[in-house]
Amino acid sequence: MVIIYGSGANRIDLGRFSTQNCDDCQKTRPHKLILDYKFDHIYWCKTVTEKQYYLFCAFCHGSVHSLEAMQVESKLGGNPIPFWTRYGLIILIVSFVILVPSLMILHHRYFFQ
Ligand SMILES: [Zn+2]
Repeated sequence: MVIIYGSGANRIDLGRFSTQNCDDCQKTRPHKLILDYKFDHIYWCKTVTEKQYYLFCAFCHGSVHSLEAMQVESKLGGNPIPFWTRYGLIILIVSFVILVPSLMILHHRYFFQ
C-alpha cells in the first residue's frame, strides 16, 4: 500500500486589520494582516504544523510585525484556517482507530457464527 505523505504551505490574506504608525512611511497608515501556515498531509488529510500572523503597511508593504496567534484570533473571533486543513489528518487517524477494529469484529462474527 502506497501512502502519499507530504507537506506544504499556504498564505491567507485577512485584509485590513488596523491603522497605526508605519516605521518605514513615518505616517499613520492602514495595516494588512496575513497568516502564513505550514501543514503535513497523508493524501488529502492535513494537519497544521506551524502558523504565524504578520501585520504590514498596506501602503509601502514595509514595517512588518509578527503577532501572537492567540491575540489575533481573539480579535478575529477564531482561527481562519479551514476546518479540514486543521483537523483532517486527526479525523483520518481516529477513523482508522475506530473502523479497523469494527471491521475485524464484523469479519469475525460473519465467518465464525
Ligand atoms: Zn508604510
